[in-house]
Amino acid sequence: MNFISSNIRSLILDMDGVLWKGDIQIGNLPAIFERIRARGLKVAFATNNGTQTPEQYVARLAALGVHVEPWQVVTSSLVVAHLLSQSFPSGGPVFAIGESGLTTALREKGFIPLSVDETESAQAVVIGVDRQINFKKMCEATLLVGRGLPFYATNPDKSFPTPRGKLPGAGAWASVIITATNIVPIYAGKPSPLLIEIACNRMGMANEAVLVVGDRVDTDIAAGQAAGCPVAHVLSGISSREAAETWRPRIDIIAENLGELVS
Ligand SMILES: [Mg+2]
Repeated sequence: MNFISSNIRSLILDMDGVLWKGDIQIGNLPAIFERIRARGLKVAFATNNGTQTPEQYVARLAALGVHVEPWQVVTSSLVVAHLLSQSFPSGGPVFAIGESGLTTALREKGFIPLSVDETESAQAVVIGVDRQINFKKMCEATLLVGRGLPFYATNPDKSFPTPRGKLPGAGAWASVIITATNIVPIYAGKPSPLLIEIACNRMGMANEAVLVVGDRVDTDIAAGQAAGCPVAHVLSGISSREAAETWRPRIDIIAENLGELVS
């Protein structure tokens, strides 16, 4: 069965729930990417998971036998750094709750991530997934946001998929600060179309020739549609077939997984 029409020239792939769940790959990724290459499709990756840097994702893919370059990977942390640099062109100190994917992206744009003991000079607050999160970090971020500092979140995902089930995502952590302050952050990741637009630009592709592939209707599919791209939903991650079939505007393609999509 041919899922992908001939006017599609490239794919933008979500990662969690499309390529892997936690440490477990979904399907035979080397064979899937060989098939994508044989069909002449360009590939980029757009992930709301900003915990890792593009280089770390490239290394992770290489360990699975898939060889790509860092420019092909756009994370929500890169987008949050991009948004912050529009407000603060010369960079400066920020209080960021997150992992190396976020702090590295901020440093590359001239920002100085502050430790939890020196948040006084912060000019903005950013929250993403941080597996070292604790009460003190949440308190400091809440105080700064309550004081009126610009408040950003890498993405609004309430959860992310793992082999054990759903774990709390950046949206869940942001919701603690939202509840405490009644202030909503600027979200960088999907469903904002920015990740998709940056990936299209990097590939030099017109949006209508790019198929956006994801496992979550309210982020991946919504972002692809907001960017004006055709969209494909795979059932290997978060959103069910029913959620995909009832989503409006209609989803162009629904497949079991990436392997079936490119078969
Ligand atoms: Mg996903």
